[in-house]
Amino acid sequence: MLKRFGMGRRTKILIDYSLCGNGTDPRSCCRCLRVCAPAVFQLHQSFGVRETNVFDPQRWRITPLWPSLCTRCLECVQACPRGAIHVSG
Ligand code: SF4
Ligand code: SF4
Repeated sequence: MLKRFGMGRRTKILIDYSLCGNGTDPRSCCRCLRVCAPAVFQLHQSFGVRETNVFDPQRWRITPLWPSLCTRCLECVQACPRGAIHVSG
């Protein structure tokens, strides 16, 4: 039953942060966020105890926080203008 709806599989969603968020502000894009129906992605400030300026727009990140919800529709892969998203599993 779970398999029928694309849930319960071990989907891996990787984001190449050298392509997204490196010298760019992902908040100016967020296409992956908008096209993902099950809302797998989260936009947040990067974590770290040595942040010098937590309000620096370069420090924002997109993270696939709930990969178990992924249906493998690949809408995010097709929507990403930087080719930064890889879905497998
Ligand atoms: S493949 Fe589809 S469901 Fe999975 S993260 Fe991308 S847009 Fe969301
Ligand atoms: S669509 Fe690609 S470039 Fe845009 S925020 Fe998502 S991962 Fe980054």
